Parts: sequence; structure tokens; C-alpha cells
Amino acid sequence: MLQVKNLTFAYQKTPVLQAINLTINPGENTAIIGESGSGKSTLLKLLYGKYDLNKGHIFWNDTEILGPKHNLIVGYDFMKYVAQEFELMPFITVEENIGKHLSNFFPEEKKERIDELLTVVDLTAFAKTKVKLLSGGQKQRVALARALAETPEILLLDEPFSHIDNFQKQDLRRNVFNYLKEKNIACVVATHDKEDVLGFADQIFVLNNESIAAQGKPEMLYKEPKSALVAAFFGEFNILNKTFIYANQLKIVNKSDLKVTVKKSYFKGSYFLIESLLEGQTIMFEHHAELAKNDVVYLEISK
Ligand code: ADP
Ligand code: MG
Repeated sequence: MLQVKNLTFAYQKTPVLQAINLTINPGENTAIIGESGSGKSTLLKLLYGKYDLNKGHIFWNDTEILGPKHNLIVGYDFMKYVAQEFELMPFITVEENIGKHLSNFFPEEKKERIDELLTVVDLTAFAKTKVKLLSGGQKQRVALARALAETPEILLLDEPFSHIDNFQKQDLRRNVFNYLKEKNIACVVATHDKEDVLGFADQIFVLNNESIAAQGKPEMLYKEPKSALVAAFFGEFNILNKTFIYANQLKIVNKSDLKVTVKKSYFKGSYFLIESLLEGQTIMFEHHAELAKNDVVYLEISK
């Protein structure tokens, strides 16, 4: 179990993180979300022991995670960290990078392990390719596989799919997160992409103003966002009667008190996002068909 107790940290004078408390159970998938600059990467680096805390403690079970002042070599065997900038060995192949820290004592087991990981990140065809010849997205896959190679107890992932294109992202995400669950590896994923969270995270921590602004299960935070920041993470929303209402919660009815004038329709694939006006306030809602500018329609909130 990972426990963060009353953590405060500053690079210079002003704290980036203040009085942070959090607990992560074995095998659990935890998402750290927040705007750019909110301290997600900093928090992951602190969990890894990259810097000394100004205040507080971090424990993995009974081991205290210590910064460079107290621990000469950064990092622990039970923990792996994949940064936003991944450091690979460019002049050796993909499989050599993945197996870099695996023992050569049992060559067959080693090969099996590497093959399994190549499948997880879908790089089997590139096993013998030198890393310097790969695209950014492919390098990110190698970094993921290498972090998984030694089966850590906890994996820290900073924007793990940011360099992967949309064609391949969905599959890779499912593969990696399912693999982690299968092996009971806990993970902490820093991200601003709701696709990395929904369907995968067991719990979410929202960073804002140096602290944890909200926390809970994805479904709970989605249903009761409590702040515009959290609602915006999940999608287009409106504030009606001081309540957060997602665009997909509004539907057209014959008559209601919510009379809006259509401004613009945006094609979104399986639906249209409609921008409309209600007495000067912009209201966003979803509809199966395109609506014409200046159409007047009535909306109802469906819960
Ligand atoms: P996020 O990952 O959520 O975008 P970061 O953890 O990278 O946020 O950054 C949090 C804050 O700390 C930002 O204001 C950033 O400018 C600052 N910061 C990040 N790294 C450093 C550093 N090495 N030295 C000084 N300030 C930093
Ligand atoms: Mg970051």
C-alpha cells in the first residue's frame, strides 16, 4: 500500500503541492488529474523519490520513500516510473531495451517474458529494430514494456499515451491496464485525458491550487462533479440552477421552461453538439441530428 502523509513540496519558495494525503492499495489503478502545471508530474517524481519533501512522508508498506538527501540511488526495486521524456538506449534493439535489466541466467524465461511484453505493447514486429529508428509513439511503448519487465509492485506513469496516435491508443490502453490488473500491479497515472481514466481507474485525485480538490471513484465524480474543473474533465457542461448539467443530459421536448435558440451545430460522429442561447447564456446540448441556426427548441434535463 502506498501512503502519502501531509506532503508539502516547493521547487523554490512557493509550494507546488501542499498538505497532500493519499492512499493507494495494491493492484489499484489511481488517476491523478489536473490542469497543466497543477503538479501532476511533480507528485509522481516525489512518489519515486526524485526530490526531498519539505514536509510529510511517503511509504510503500513499511519502506519510507526518501529523496536524494537520504537515498543515494534514486528509485526502488518495487517501483517503476515512466516519465514524460523516456530515456531509452538508442543504439540497441527494442527487445534488448525491454530485457535490459532481466537476468541472463534463464535465457528461455527471459525470451518468453520479452515476447509477452512485446505483445502487450504491440511491438512484436519491431523486436529487432534499433530504438533510434522508432517514432515517438513506438519509443513510448518500449518505455512502458521496459518498466513492466521486472514486474514492479507499483508503476508510476506520466501521461503514458501522450505520444501514441489515436489509431492505436484505445487498444494499447486496454492492453496495458488489463495487464496491470492481471498481474496485480498498482499504478498511478498522471493525465489530463479522460480516456485514460474512464473504464480503468479505481479512484481519481484531482489536483488544483496545490492540493487535492476532489477525490473519489470515477462514477461518483462524474455524477456529482461539485466544481467546474471536475465537470470540464468529463465533457461539455452547463450550469443550470447552480447545478452542473452535461450536454448529453439535455434533450429536446415539445414544451418546457428551457427555451433556447440554436447558434451552431458541430458534427461529433454519433451525435451533434449544439451550441444555443438561453437569454444570453450559452447552453450546450447533444442531439442526434443537425439543427439550423436560429431554430427555437425546448430542452429538458434527463438525469
Ligand atoms: P503538471 O505535470 O501537472 O503539468 P508539473 O508538476 O510539471 O505540472 O509542474 C507544477 C509546477 O511546478 C509548475 O508551476 C511548473 O512550472 C513548476 N515546475 C515543474 N518542474 C520544475 C522544476 N524542475 N523547477 C522549478 N519549477 C518547476
Ligand atoms: Mg506533467
